[in-house]
Amino acid sequence: MNPDDSLYKDDNFEPDERPVPKVFHSFYEERPFRCCTSCGEGLNDLEDIYQVTKTFHGTEVILEYAMCSPCQQNMLKELSEESVERLANFQTERSKEPQNNADTEDYKCEFCLRSREDAIENQLHFSMAAICFASEMVERPLFVCETCMLEINEKMSEQTKRRWRDFVDTHFPGVPSDALPEPTTVPVL
Ligand SMILES: [Zn+2]
Ligand SMILES: [Zn+2]
Repeated sequence: MNPDDSLYKDDNFEPDERPVPKVFHSFYEERPFRCCTSCGEGLNDLEDIYQVTKTFHGTEVILEYAMCSPCQQNMLKELSEESVERLANFQTERSKEPQNNADTEDYKCEFCLRSREDAIENQLHFSMAAICFASEMVERPLFVCETCMLEINEKMSEQTKRRWRDFVDTHFPGVPSDALPEPTTVPVL
């Protein structure tokens, strides 16, 4: 039997597209994100994907944003080539591709498989990201724990860290960006 067959026989198996789970809604607006945090473009009419990213400290949301694909591409262009390449390599080499399940809220770190429960119990930072199209989540959601975020951060150039700080300072004036593990997301390339 092909090991992948079991996946499709599992009652909990979810197709790739489903409504954006609540954990990826805007906590502050108490509804799904409507606009790109960066350019303000409406996400429902956008004929492109967008990414919702949320950073938590334990159960507390400390940063959340939605970024449309054009803004994400622009952002990637402004990061150093070296950083983007290292990030891509890290993802290819280290991703363990856990089958995160939004319905049972079962999330494991992309790179070390630490569970979300464990990260919450230990009051750690962690980031979660979902690729969405209009009101649907279209790919497996990502979870990255603080330890792995810091490891990725060490690989990033000063230019990349500076660009990230600018983004936080511009869009989240109340959040001291130095207090956050940077970058708090793994851009999905
Ligand atoms: Zn945008
Ligand atoms: Zn991890």
